[in-house]
Amino acid sequence: MKCEFCDSETSKKKVKKQHWFKGRLYIVENVEAEVCNECGERYFHATTLDRIDKIISGDHSVKEVLSVEVVSA
Ligand SMILES: [Zn+2]
Repeated sequence: MKCEFCDSETSKKKVKKQHWFKGRLYIVENVEAEVCNECGERYFHATTLDRIDKIISGDHSVKEVLSVEVVSA
């Protein structure tokens, strides 16, 4: 597909995604995305996002638990 921001081509890649679900933040590895070759913008299919919600809401294994700092810029 074409990037909405810079009009460059995107490539299919597996990425690490920050994903909010019911007020909690998850880091999900191995997520399929279209990534812009130029600006790095990432695009996720709605079906991919639905699948992540399903994984999180069901029984899933947890690789690692991180504590996250929230800061103001
Ligand atoms: Zn782009």
